[in-house]
Amino acid sequence: MRVAVLSDIHANLEALRAVLSDLGKGADTILNLGDLVGYNASPNECVDLVRDVGMHSIAGNHDQAACNPRLAAGFNIYAHRAVLWTREVLYGENTRFLASLSENSRFDFGLACHGTPESTTSYLGLHFQARALLKKMKNGSLGRGNVCLFGHTHKRKVWRMDVRGKVAPEEIPENGTIELLPEEFYLINPGSVGQPRSGDPRSSYLIFDTRENTVSFRLVEYDLAPTIGKIIAAGLPEFFAQRLVDGV
Ligand code: ZN
Repeated sequence: MRVAVLSDIHANLEALRAVLSDLGKGADTILNLGDLVGYNASPNECVDLVRDVGMHSIAGNHDQAACNPRLAAGFNIYAHRAVLWTREVLYGENTRFLASLSENSRFDFGLACHGTPESTTSYLGLHFQARALLKKMKNGSLGRGNVCLFGHTHKRKVWRMDVRGKVAPEEIPENGTIELLPEEFYLINPGSVGQPRSGDPRSSYLIFDTRENTVSFRLVEYDLAPTIGKIIAAGLPEFFAQRLVDGV
C-alpha cells in the first residue's frame, strides 16, 4: 500500500493544492498528521478539501486549540492570535470535524501521531526523546509495527534504531528515498505542507510504500503570493508571511 503522509497543513490552501496535485493518483490512501489550521488564512477551505479528499486525519495541537481556546494558553502570542482568529471564522461543521479527531492511530506498519503518541504538544526533536520512544516500540508496548509517523516540528526527519538498539538520525538523500529494514525501528516526520521550517520554503510531504518498505520525501514549490495576500488581508501577523518566504 502506498500511503501519502502530510502534516502541518496550517490553513495554507495553495500549499495543500500543490501537494495534492504533485501526488496525483500516486497513493492508495492519504494520512494527515494534524494541525490542519492555525497560522495561515484558509482554515475552512483546507478542512473542506481534506474532508472531500477523504484523508485519514488525526488531531494536532492547533486543531484542538481552535475547538477549545483554553488549550492555547501555552502558545506564543502570534500563534495565540491565530487560534482566536481561526475559531472566529471556522464554520461550526468544521469545528466539529476537528473536535472529532483522535490523537493517534494504529496501523499494520505501526502508528501515527502529531507530537508524540502520548501528546499533541510535545516536540520529538532530541536524541534522548527519540530513543525513549523507539525503545517503547521495540519492546512492543505501543503495539505492532516498526514505524511511527509524527509531525509538529515542521521539519523532515528520520530517526532509526538498529538491531543493536543504537539510535541515530538518518540523512535524507538527494533523491529523497530511504529504504526501511523490517528488523529496525523508525520515527519519521514528513515535514510541513503549510509552514515548512527546514530552511526551504517548499512544501514537504512523503510517500510511504508499505510493501516496498521505502519512504520517499518530496518537496513541492507553490506560489506564495496568494497565501501571503490572504494573511495580510485577514489582519494576521505579518511574521507568518515572512516565515513562509524564509521557510523557517
Ligand atoms: Zn504545526
